[in-house]
Amino acid sequence: MTWDYLIVGAGFSGAVLAERLASQRGATCLVIDRRDHIGGNAHDRADAAGVLIHPYGPHYFRTNSDRVVEYLSQFTAWHPVEYKVLSHTHGRYWQFPINLNTFEALIGRPSTPEEMAATLAEWRVPIASPCNSEEVIISQVGRRLYGMFFENYTLKQWRRHPRELDPSVCGRIPVRTNRDDRFCDEKFQALPRAGYTAMFGRMLAQPGIEVRLRTDFREARAQIPHRHLIYTGPVDEYFGNRLGPLPWRSLRFEMETLPVEFAQPAMQVNYPNDHDYTRVVEIKHATGQKLPHTTIVREFPQDYAAGLEPYYPIPAPDARALYTRYAELAAVEKGATFVGRLATYRYYNMDQCVAAALTEFEKLPPLPH
Ligand code: FAD
Ligand code: UDP
Repeated sequence: MTWDYLIVGAGFSGAVLAERLASQRGATCLVIDRRDHIGGNAHDRADAAGVLIHPYGPHYFRTNSDRVVEYLSQFTAWHPVEYKVLSHTHGRYWQFPINLNTFEALIGRPSTPEEMAATLAEWRVPIASPCNSEEVIISQVGRRLYGMFFENYTLKQWRRHPRELDPSVCGRIPVRTNRDDRFCDEKFQALPRAGYTAMFGRMLAQPGIEVRLRTDFREARAQIPHRHLIYTGPVDEYFGNRLGPLPWRSLRFEMETLPVEFAQPAMQVNYPNDHDYTRVVEIKHATGQKLPHTTIVREFPQDYAAGLEPYYPIPAPDARALYTRYAELAAVEKGATFVGRLATYRYYNMDQCVAAALTEFEKLPPLPH
């Protein structure tokens, strides 16, 4: 049979497009993924001890988009969560992102939002338009807090200095002068109640969709007749690295199950200045799972190499310049549409992937008969 759409990747980008094309246009969609599961990096599963984990790093769903919430709510109920993160450095835990509690801990006495704002105004380096990740932080909080919480974490995470990264990288992290201790600012913050994988299962359960796992596009492409391709894998790989490989950043995850209800005081603890890992995640704080034991996941950044997962595009001018040339190839590639974090080389959150895929769906012309 000839599929209307061959969709490479069963993550958010591929699943949204498959669901929309099948349910709204009656299209037949074959979704392939080289992994042995659906969900892409948002996949979650119970580990051997029965603890629900996020094996590809913590996935905190948050969004300001009503459209995205309405869309996903067709496939899941929600478990509202306030994501809480601490930073551990200089021998103690600190509230993170920086807020009034962090400031009080730093100065060693109670304070007020007014005093904190006035102090940051003195500490801040006046930069009208920050043009890199160092400038975006020092222009808000000055060099001392930047040095404590951002500089080394960023070096460890990206193996690039914050000066070599776009302002948006560290600019993702809010700075507050009140006691709001949530990690994110977005108005909607919740996890799919039964988990991400269950939500993906419902999205992909539409008539007209078939999912084939452990199937690599590079080997399967010639054997799967299709009328249009939707590709959500790495764009440089699609073109055989014709213009040279794009820079990606990879990770290694180390899981440990412990015989205690909770192993650390928050869902996520960041280690900017100690250890080879950047953060330790105990997602059980967020999922609300009740168990007498727990699992923590340590996250070690590593250089990308063939065979590893390209977890992060690198938001920096040199990488973008190369991507722009791949984007030109992608734009003229006949019968193919490139969507998602890997195929458009964007440091997208999940909600941005959903929004981009919904927009792409609306733009896809009907297939010729
Ligand atoms: P992916 O989820 O990467 O899916 C692409 C799929 O394509 C993969 O399953 C891959 O196996 C498959 N594929 C690739 N090439 C081929 C091929 N040749 N053949 C077959 N299959 C192929 N977002 C948030 O909103 N909140 C968070 O807290 C958050 N935390 C994150 C933490 C980490 C460590 C990482 C890496 C990402 C995080 N994200 C978070 C981002 C989120 O993972 C992405 O926005 C989203 O999952 C991207 O969806 P996607 O479908 O575009 O890509
Ligand atoms: N960051 C930092 N210190 C921290 C947390 C984050 O310097 O304690 C910087 C770092 O460069 C990181 C970026 O802010 O890559 C974005 O952090 P986030 O936790 O949003 O990253 P992600 O979950 O995407 O890895």
